[in-house]
Amino acid sequence: MRVLNLIVFSAVAVSMSAGRASAGPDPPTVVIDPGHGGSNTGAPGLDGATEKRITLAIARMVRRRLQERGLRVLLTRERDVYLTLGERVRRANGTGADLFVSLHANASREHTQKGVETYVGAREFSDVAAHRAAVAEQDPAQAMIARAGARQMAAESVRLARAVQTRLVEVRGGDRGMRQAPYDVLDGVAVPAVLVEVGFVDHAQEGAELLRPDVQARIAAAIADGIEAFVSHRATPGQSNGPRSAVALARR
Ligand SMILES: [Zn+2]
Repeated sequence: MRVLNLIVFSAVAVSMSAGRASAGPDPPTVVIDPGHGGSNTGAPGLDGATEKRITLAIARMVRRRLQERGLRVLLTRERDVYLTLGERVRRANGTGADLFVSLHANASREHTQKGVETYVGAREFSDVAAHRAAVAEQDPAQAMIARAGARQMAAESVRLARAVQTRLVEVRGGDRGMRQAPYDVLDGVAVPAVLVEVGFVDHAQEGAELLRPDVQARIAAAIADGIEAFVSHRATPGQSNGPRSAVALARR
C-alpha cells in the first residue's frame, strides 16, 4: 500500500551528494526502506499477516544479497518499529546513498487484485524539478547545468524502476507496470528513488505466497538483481558523477 509520506529526500540527498564529491573506489550505497512498521502495520493480509512484516523480511534479504555482491546497504529500519517520515529521512541522511528503494505490498478493496508495480515520483515525468533548479540559479550557465542535472536524475529513477520491475515480473509475473506517484514530496529528490509494490497481501493466492520465505527470497533476488544492474551501468566511466554533481551544484 502506498503511503502519502513517501520520500522527502531532497535535502538528504543534496547533503549526501556534497559529501561524496571525492568518492572514488567506495562501493555503491543502497538505502532500502521497509515500508511501515510498529503501529503502522500497512495493508492487512491473510491470517493476520501484515505488510510491515513482509517488507522488513524482504528488505533484509535484499540487503544480504547486495552485500554479498560488495554493495553497501542500509535499512531505514532494522526492526518492527514505527518510523515517521522525518525519522526515515534522518536515518538515511549522511550515508552517501546512491539510490533509494522503498518496499511495500499492496491490497485492494475487492481482495482480487494481484501483481507487481514500481513507482517513481511525479517529477519523473515533469519539468518541475528542472525549472525549480534552474530558477534557483542566477547564472545562465549554471541554470542550464541545473536543468540537465534534474532531468538526468529523473531519467535515472525511471531506469532504476525499469530495472527492478523487469526482474520482478520475470519471477512473479503479474506486470502492473511502472507507475507515477504524484507526490510533491518526491520533487527534487537528488538520488534515484523508487517505490516497489511486491504484490497483494490480501489476494487469496498471492497473499499466501508473499508469506513464504522462498517466495520472499525470489522477490528479494529480483530486486537485488535490478539494483545491481542499475548500479553497474551507472558505474560506467564518465557517467557516475555527472548527474549528481549537477544537481548538487544547482541546489547549493
Ligand atoms: Zn505500504
